[in-house]
Amino acid sequence: CGIVGYIGGRTALPFLVDGLKRLEYRGYDSAGIATVGESGLELVRAKGKLHNLEEKLNGVAQSTGTVGIGHTRWATHGKPEEHNAHPHTDASGRLAVIQNGIIENYAELRLRLKERGCLFKSETDTEVIPHLIACRLAGHSLLEAVLAAVGELKGAFAIAVVSADFPDELVVVRQQAPLVIGFGAGENYFASDVPAIVSHTTRVLTLQDGECARLTRTEVQVHDFSGARLRRTPRSLNWNP
Ligand code: GLU
Repeated sequence: CGIVGYIGGRTALPFLVDGLKRLEYRGYDSAGIATVGESGLELVRAKGKLHNLEEKLNGVAQSTGTVGIGHTRWATHGKPEEHNAHPHTDASGRLAVIQNGIIENYAELRLRLKERGCLFKSETDTEVIPHLIACRLAGHSLLEAVLAAVGELKGAFAIAVVSADFPDELVVVRQQAPLVIGFGAGENYFASDVPAIVSHTTRVLTLQDGECARLTRTEVQVHDFSGARLRRTPRSLNWNP
């Protein structure tokens, strides 16, 4: 029920864990993080409180990746178990997706993907998304592949995508679920809500329905779902918690 992301020059993990804590008020039953570092995509997920995720993170060599995404889940499709926690990956294990919301037509998409040979590891509505993106990646940019996948989705959702094959970008999508982007110096962020980013920056941009964005360390490009570039400027946040 909360999403966060970081791309910049620092290790992503502290931002992600702190951001998820600041979104705890939204409620959740499990949590997970994916970062991209020198060893590729690293995924850590846990059922229950963020404390459980932190314990697991302490148990593994900490990722030094400088790009990553984090998620707290409020299960709608599939029990609150670790294998249903986000992020979800494609078959290569190099692309990870988090989603807040509901993919209404996931059952038919899942069936079609299974017929094409995709193997599913969870019961969530979300897992169709990394598979759909992977199907569209050949010869395309990450943004193009994500938009092709989004074109097949029905529902209300906020989505974020990270890939070890595109280590210098994050792609986010908004369709009737909240998503705010924060602009830093040499780093950029996103989250479901401002509490997760306000201690890092007060320059924010609220993504609108039907918009997506490509975040690099130095730039945020906003597009509509046809891929056309939109002119958006960040506003200054007056935040009184
Ligand atoms: N529908 C998704 C799931 O059950 C996402 C739920 C959420 O917004 O946390 O995995």
